[in-house]
Amino acid sequence: MSARPAAPLLPGATLGVLGGGQLGRMFVHAAQAMGYFTAVLDADPDSPAGRVSHHHVRTGYEDPAGLAELARLSDAITTEFENVPAASLAALAALRPVSPAASAVAVAQNRAEEKAHFVGCGVPCAPYAVIETAAQLAAVPAELLPGILKTARMGYDGKGQVRVQSAAELSAAWQSVGQVPCVLEKMLPLALECSVIVARGADGACVHLPVQRNLHRDGILAVTEVYEQNMPPALAHQAVAAAKSIAEELQYVGVLCVEFFVLDDGSLVVNEIAPRPHNSGHYSQNACDVSQFELQVRTMAGLPLTPPRQHSAAVMLNLLGDLWFAQGEAEQTPPWAAVLALPGTHLHLYGKREAKPGRKMGHLNITAPSAEAARATALQAAALLGLEPF
Ligand code: ATP
Ligand code: MG
Repeated sequence: MSARPAAPLLPGATLGVLGGGQLGRMFVHAAQAMGYFTAVLDADPDSPAGRVSHHHVRTGYEDPAGLAELARLSDAITTEFENVPAASLAALAALRPVSPAASAVAVAQNRAEEKAHFVGCGVPCAPYAVIETAAQLAAVPAELLPGILKTARMGYDGKGQVRVQSAAELSAAWQSVGQVPCVLEKMLPLALECSVIVARGADGACVHLPVQRNLHRDGILAVTEVYEQNMPPALAHQAVAAAKSIAEELQYVGVLCVEFFVLDDGSLVVNEIAPRPHNSGHYSQNACDVSQFELQVRTMAGLPLTPPRQHSAAVMLNLLGDLWFAQGEAEQTPPWAAVLALPGTHLHLYGKREAKPGRKMGHLNITAPSAEAARATALQAAALLGLEPF
């Protein structure tokens, strides 16, 4: 079945999503706001998206009966979780329009294929080597060290990554990840990190959100800043053009996030793609006239895509479970009332039952008329929450 519904699916139809995490929850909220019904597939009865959806199919991603039930309930299906087995997406695609396509998700699931795709698009990525065998390990060129060994599959938030200085450390690191297929990337001198969200329809129309400047701490996104001059405009244009060509070459339908590095020498290098809305695009909920989640709804429903317009300068602070333990061992609710007393603060919590260090619990969007004002308020909020200044 084609990824494109024959006619736009109008409000009143049911939109299905694979995965019940926070991205699914915010998708469900956006779909429901527009008058759609929603169906979520996630085995966890307490999943953030399952708990707010009209329908919740409580099975694993590979359960044939669960997938059939999701297809029965839904008029079109998308994913919020990039490690959904490609076979499950392919099985659903035989029954209902699915976007993004299994083939595009499969590229994003495997760092080796992803990098080959970047090379095919003519977009530079970090120098790398694929390591699947002991022979390939032994043949790694010395100029890739120091480097980062990344498992080809299933990495997120810096998990499945080991920084290595020498051939001996590389060999030990490959042992430590169980000799699974990996890529070794050269460690690059990063001046800054940024990302671009693009949304592409089945008709080929492609729109984008403004370029996001991202700060990571311990391999996890901490802060996103989006306003004029958040990075050199020429680089921002280059990033948007590269993101669009990556989506185009994949014949991508849906919302795609492309992460980039800007190196000390001012050059732009693509890092990785996520075949779904992304943490770095959350500011769009409050700072743009169309959010990344509404774009996901529009692409899967075959509705028109209009160029998003950012109307406020924005800073997003990620709220990890650590904040609940900022005062020591005992869990404490962060000072939401004090934070919300600041102008232009928008609190988004994902309804997770338990706070744990490193767990994404929510985010705070700060909007303001100017970059200076957004940053000043964000720094005040960060101080109240016990987050490092940036
Ligand atoms: P996520 O999916 O949450 O974005 P991930 O686990 O897939 O993360 P990457 O995006 O590959 O991980 O890397 C996480 C962070 O580690 C990057 O944002 C960057 O700060 C740093 N990093 C990754 N690769 C390199 C590199 N080649 N050189 C320098 N720093 C790097
Ligand atoms: Mg990343």
